[in-house]
Amino acid sequence: MNKIRVALVGNPNVGKSTLFNALTGLKQHTGNWTGKTVDSAMGTCKYLDNEIEIIDLPGTYSLKSSSEEEFVATSFIEQKDYDVAVIVCDSVCLEKSLNLVLQTLEITNRVIVCLNLIDEASKKGIVINSKKLEYILKVPVVLTDARKKLGLDKLLEKIVNFQVKDVYQVLYDEEIEDLLLKENRYLSIRNLEKKNIILKDKIVNTIVNKSNEIVKDVVNFTKDDYDKKDRFLDKILTSKITGIPIMLFLLFIILWLTISVSNYPSQLLFNFFHFLEGKIYNFFEFICIPKFINEMLVLGVYKTLTWVVSVMLPPMAIFFPLFTILEDYGLLPRIAFNMDHAFSKCNACGKQCLTMLMGFGCNAVGVTGTRIIDSKREKIIAILTNVFVPCNGRFPTIIAMISMFFITTTNKIFSSLISALLLTFIILLGIILTLIVSKVLSRTLLKGYPSSFILELPPYRKPKFLSVIARSMFDRTLFVLGRAVVVAIPAGFILFLIANISINEISILHFLANKLNGIGLTLGLDGIIILAFLLGFPANEIVIPVMLMGYLATGSLTDYESLNSLKTILLDNGWTLLTAVNFILLTLFHYPCSTTFLTIKKEAGSIKWSLIALVIPTAVGVILCLLVKLFWQLFI
Ligand code: GDP
Repeated sequence: MNKIRVALVGNPNVGKSTLFNALTGLKQHTGNWTGKTVDSAMGTCKYLDNEIEIIDLPGTYSLKSSSEEEFVATSFIEQKDYDVAVIVCDSVCLEKSLNLVLQTLEITNRVIVCLNLIDEASKKGIVINSKKLEYILKVPVVLTDARKKLGLDKLLEKIVNFQVKDVYQVLYDEEIEDLLLKENRYLSIRNLEKKNIILKDKIVNTIVNKSNEIVKDVVNFTKDDYDKKDRFLDKILTSKITGIPIMLFLLFIILWLTISVSNYPSQLLFNFFHFLEGKIYNFFEFICIPKFINEMLVLGVYKTLTWVVSVMLPPMAIFFPLFTILEDYGLLPRIAFNMDHAFSKCNACGKQCLTMLMGFGCNAVGVTGTRIIDSKREKIIAILTNVFVPCNGRFPTIIAMISMFFITTTNKIFSSLISALLLTFIILLGIILTLIVSKVLSRTLLKGYPSSFILELPPYRKPKFLSVIARSMFDRTLFVLGRAVVVAIPAGFILFLIANISINEISILHFLANKLNGIGLTLGLDGIIILAFLLGFPANEIVIPVMLMGYLATGSLTDYESLNSLKTILLDNGWTLLTAVNFILLTLFHYPCSTTFLTIKKEAGSIKWSLIALVIPTAVGVILCLLVKLFWQLFI
């Protein structure tokens, strides 16, 4: 069997992953939410008598290697360890993709141009003369609709029949060609950046002009108003006056839907697990498992685990699909665009906003996502402030606190609206503190000016609902839940043990809590709460279970099966409105969980930054708690 190696190259968001999946049948994430790892994915497919190995390179705007993605893609292209490079282009904005095509043709002529999203283009009345493009570029051109898997056979046929021709694209005028000859031509533009700025600028201009020229030659716009709807939407969504209020309103709606719908499945899950609990306990007793072990398994591990699942699963299963729909529709870059001004005022990068949005799911993912920020200084700022966005481990905890302590009405719609409003406000507080801390960092530890960046506003696209559900369920919900569950099981064991093993008549848990009581009371909380936060370092989800175990002197999580009974337990243990407010503040502002901590170490490249990442949010939380307590004592 003949083996062919194909590199898949393209700008972000042109459907490269979709094409890769369609060709290889491999399940691979097709969103940019995780900032996609810069490792390149591989897959194979068979066509006629050929085995085609496809390497999916990270999406890149250019071959300048100013970011990690670009570096990986550029190095791969330059090493030429492939038979043919398929450059996936967006047929809707061909000029942008052509920049990359021309830069690649600079390095190699083993290229096939794949004009994807051809369905979107034809909907907008954009007609591309592919034969003429083939003639101009001197490489094969194929039209595809990767979503509907149209044109793939043609692409595979061109791949297996590909023959290198000895004709090169002539891009530059004599002056540039002469200069390029003096430099090592095929090591190309990226090396010129530092060496010869004027030449680099000339090359960039030539490429942009050439792309525009080609587009004029081969693209025909049959509708004058082909992007009228997009422009209208952009006018509203990115306007200085309406942009941010609309984004906040959308956030509010998502939170409201999450809160109002997730209550029901949460309660059902609570009831279901509660029902099973007795049965499991009796069964273990029946098969003569010793009482201590039975209690440890059921009242320790099972209780902690089912708490985590009941509280976390429903909000995630609702929030993530809604969020993914907005992402697919093309809203996230617009949010970053709106926030860019605020971030650059704080000497930080507008892309930080995208990494914050990733942090909503999981801060570790948000921290990994900071790879999209080119400047190291701005990347560290984004890393250090990412925990100010509540991840899914903390999000349900905050919702539970709001429902218990701030909602007095019994009207369900009204109460969920107030909850969502409060949650929006809390998230806004996180954003405001992100900006303040970013500003302080850029004036102190991380001095510097904001860098400029090009943020592409992709065309709006109708989300594909089935893929949204599948992706948000498997890649996000189950991923985050799985990790929480992995932590909850050993945590359940340890909690049970420290709550049940006593030294001098007092359990270890209470002994530690007593020691911490002084700090707790100073912050308007108590020792058990502080201990719960400390023990919650492996995963924020277990903070409430630890607290409950501390309050219920029985040494297990026996007495609750709903938020109402939870509230009674908290009130019985001296909780007031102040405790709830400060608990929420500390939930939002404290050190990152262990996974995020390790990710920070990896991404920031030093333990110093990881330690600073522990200190900053904790200091912010402590200061806010002290201020609120002072305010309470003076005025309430
Ligand atoms: P990547 O960033 O280049 O890997 O792009 P993705 O594969 O993640 O695709 C971005 C979005 O475009 C997804 O919502 C895809 O479903 C959609 N998409 C990809 N190819 C096509 C296509 O040919 N036609 C249409 N209508 N949508 C597409």
